[in-house]
Amino acid sequence: RVRIADVERTFPTAEGPRTVLRDVTLDVVPGEIIAIVGPSGCGKSTLLRLIGGLDTPTVGSITLDDRVVRAHDDSTAIAFQEPRLLPWRTIAQNVALGLPRGSRGRSARERVAELLALVGLTHAAGQRPSEVSGGMAQRASLARALARDPRVLLLDEPFGALDALTRLKMHDLLLDIHRAQPTTIVLVTHDVEEALYLADHVLLLRNLHDAQLEPARPRAKVVALGSSSGLGALGS
Ligand code: ATP
Ligand code: MG
Repeated sequence: RVRIADVERTFPTAEGPRTVLRDVTLDVVPGEIIAIVGPSGCGKSTLLRLIGGLDTPTVGSITLDDRVVRAHDDSTAIAFQEPRLLPWRTIAQNVALGLPRGSRGRSARERVAELLALVGLTHAAGQRPSEVSGGMAQRASLARALARDPRVLLLDEPFGALDALTRLKMHDLLLDIHRAQPTTIVLVTHDVEEALYLADHVLLLRNLHDAQLEPARPRAKVVALGSSSGLGALGS
């Protein structure tokens, strides 16, 4: 399970240190889909990068099964809003880049074929990213993340750039994949409906700096919809 304990992330900036996340505590039950929603700039991507080990908290700790997460180990994989595919490689080669280190040969090729089938891209295996649609590129990016066979799949606005219909299809595809292979998923999204449709728990991350959102009343604290499991509080 993923444990985020009292995490703070402060960035040095020209105007001095800027705290983006503070007192974030969250416990993600294995196999669940957690959605994190919140206004632009509130630190959703920052939090996801921390969980993926791409960045380290200023204060607090993030552990996966009691081990501190590190970048480039095979336990987490991340997919972003932009597919970030290598333009000179084919779709199949891009998916293969996600395979765990040391994968090669026939089993690697079979795994890539399986993933392409899973996301409905078998027919596009040999095409370059510039030759496929945005939705197809996004599915390739998802397949590349799944190739790692991660224990935690981190999705940062993965459907944000897609048209409404493609997005709906991607939602059901993600749920099908999750049913077949119940990985823990942490999904960041602006889209509250998407969060409610996909997630077991929806968490609201508040912007520490947005004065316009500062309520006249004492601040709303944590919003965690669905409270049957061991979720802690997100935000403070
Ligand atoms: P969006 O919904 O627009 O993607 P977000 O919630 O993902 O927003 P983040 O990208 O996590 O927001 O950024 C949160 C804040 O942290 C922003 O004000 C951003 O400018 C700041 N920030 C993020 N990374 C850094 C960094 N490396 N150095 C300085 N500030 C940073
Ligand atoms: Mg973001």
